[in-house]
Amino acid sequence: MNIVLLGAPGAGKGTQAAKLIEEYNLPHISTGDMLRAAVKAGTELGLKAKGYMDAGDLVPDDVIIGLVTERLQEPDTEAGFILDGFPRTSAQAVALDAELSKLERPLDAALLIDVDPEVIVGRLCSRRMCRECGHIGTVADATCPKCGGEMYQRDDDNEATVRNRLDVYEKSTSPLIDYYRGCELLVTIDGDRDPDVVYADVKEALA
Ligand code: AMP
Repeated sequence: MNIVLLGAPGAGKGTQAAKLIEEYNLPHISTGDMLRAAVKAGTELGLKAKGYMDAGDLVPDDVIIGLVTERLQEPDTEAGFILDGFPRTSAQAVALDAELSKLERPLDAALLIDVDPEVIVGRLCSRRMCRECGHIGTVADATCPKCGGEMYQRDDDNEATVRNRLDVYEKSTSPLIDYYRGCELLVTIDGDRDPDVVYADVKEALA
């Protein structure tokens, strides 16, 4: 199963990806997670990406396309993958198509988790993540409900940056909705509901 998760930042792509991974045992390719790991490790990629990420802007296409292309060469992706946060621009979508057709592994679906932008601002400003396992929680979680780890607020989850990320999404990423609709791969799911209810629809879409 080769899946792309589309949706604005904070729509719940990471939460749905976590459920899919648990059930289908597929690798989760989250470009945001990969970049955050690079920033934490202080690699050349991390140093290059940090300024863009802190401002809520997109990391340049060539950097991110190279990262995902390399990741797709790894054997664990042969049985399928969940792409989360990629593609985010038309150039990335075209590069992904080219790579997947070279690998003879076409996409099965592009799932759009659809949430109103104002709901997202509230969600992201109160979002917290676990430093240990990456669990996505809220400001109400003093420690991680999954592993007991420390919860923290991402540097880019403040209101000004969130609003910029939503603008960037509207301009650069939302055109991909039409792109995948044109390829007959798009499935739109209302993401403004309990995550388990959203997941039931995700599963139905993939059945
Ligand atoms: P995310 O965790 O998906 O919200 O990504 C956090 C940040 O990483 C974004 O605001 C961008 O700065 C950067 N980023 C993640 N994925 C991409 C991508 N596909 N293209 C460009 N920048 C990205």
